[in-house]
Amino acid sequence: MNSPTAVIYARENQQRFLSELKELLRIPSVSTLPEHKADVLRAAEFVATHLRNIGMEHVEVVPTAGHPLVYADWLKAVGKPTVLCYGHYDVQPPDPLNEWHTPPFEPTERNQNLYARGAVDDKGQMYMHIKAFESLLKTAGGKLPVNVRVLIEGEEEVGGESIAKFVREHPERLKADVALVSDTEMFAPDLPTLCVGLRGMVYTELEASGAMTDLHSGMYGGAAPNPFEALARLIIKLKDEKGKILIPGFYDRVEKPSPDELKAWSSLPFDVEHFRKTEVGSKELTGESEFPVLERIWARPTLEVHGMPGGFIGAGGKTVIPARASAKVSMRLVPDQTPAEIFKLYSDFVQKNVPKGISINIKQFSVADPIVVKTDNQFVQASTAAMKEVFNQDTVFIRSGGSIPIVADFEKHLKIPSVMMGFGLPDDNLHAPNKKFHIPNFYRGIESIIRFLQKVGEA
Ligand SMILES: [Zn+2]
Repeated sequence: MNSPTAVIYARENQQRFLSELKELLRIPSVSTLPEHKADVLRAAEFVATHLRNIGMEHVEVVPTAGHPLVYADWLKAVGKPTVLCYGHYDVQPPDPLNEWHTPPFEPTERNQNLYARGAVDDKGQMYMHIKAFESLLKTAGGKLPVNVRVLIEGEEEVGGESIAKFVREHPERLKADVALVSDTEMFAPDLPTLCVGLRGMVYTELEASGAMTDLHSGMYGGAAPNPFEALARLIIKLKDEKGKILIPGFYDRVEKPSPDELKAWSSLPFDVEHFRKTEVGSKELTGESEFPVLERIWARPTLEVHGMPGGFIGAGGKTVIPARASAKVSMRLVPDQTPAEIFKLYSDFVQKNVPKGISINIKQFSVADPIVVKTDNQFVQASTAAMKEVFNQDTVFIRSGGSIPIVADFEKHLKIPSVMMGFGLPDDNLHAPNKKFHIPNFYRGIESIIRFLQKVGEA
């Protein structure tokens, strides 16, 4: 098929699009670190300025209790559907810094990849939307083929509370027929992929206290309770060696994927050994061996420990029995588990099993509902047709083990489905050092989104 003029425009401007993206990637908009608050704001303003420059309307940096949202729209396509385009401009902290081959906030091209924190998640993918709008606006006399609303947040990596509140409180300002979300991965290079399910999440911190002050193990060891030991005992009660979570009632609402979905997964180009070697890089894979790996990471809940702050962590030895220690523990949830119910089961179980001499305070950070989105609608069809034109391949439907809380909020409060069209690659190192974006996918993503919006407009 011949290329629409907007696609030709996008191809002619690839280099400029890429250098603009690099500018955005140089802003260290780390949402979790207070010292980067001004950078986060700067990234929001960068996005707003670029939306304004290409001709989007009602562009606004919306203040929130946390980091600002960026809103824009173009609503002059009378009688056409409205697409709500979502993305985020914040990134995770770049640690451990010494594992980066090039500085995380100095985008560097190597082997057709762009290395930088946030390159693919989500600045690069969010920016694809903006460049698709630009290509369409510049080649059609300032018009888009559909109505578009844009909502971009700066707190995705810290739980997205402000956007959730905004969506809950202003459904009329976000009225749309479908949400377009580009914050996911393709299953394999050159294989267009729609993500149709996300795990949910409950993130907690267990704060254990024992003695009233730090003690010396030579004088008190053998009599004083140790919060680290207590946490270790608790953690092994939460999950067994086979990956089974031992909290009573935890699995009661877990829905098995349909036989059709499982069958489709088993025909994906997936090699367990390759996955173990190149993506995980461990001696063996762990977890519930009675389930295939893809089902384990997409459709089974999990419980993980992320860090245990406290005590002595300097070089050498120090014989302290710390008065306090913590464990950061999260659970990934699957339909139909709910964060509230799981948090209650978890808290009750933890409090029932607190070791002698210790008290535990449980903090809850982010939560997200798990979701499986519907695929029998015109928007999914438009998206698979668009990607077929760009990649020359049929789209595969997968789930992601990650969480994008806003997708469930869009369904709950705006009553709209999401199309999760993502262009990351499995080895893009989403939250690890050396994050990258495969540059050809940046361009193919822009073309796919142009064609998607055109097809939604034609339907
Ligand atoms: Zn993301």
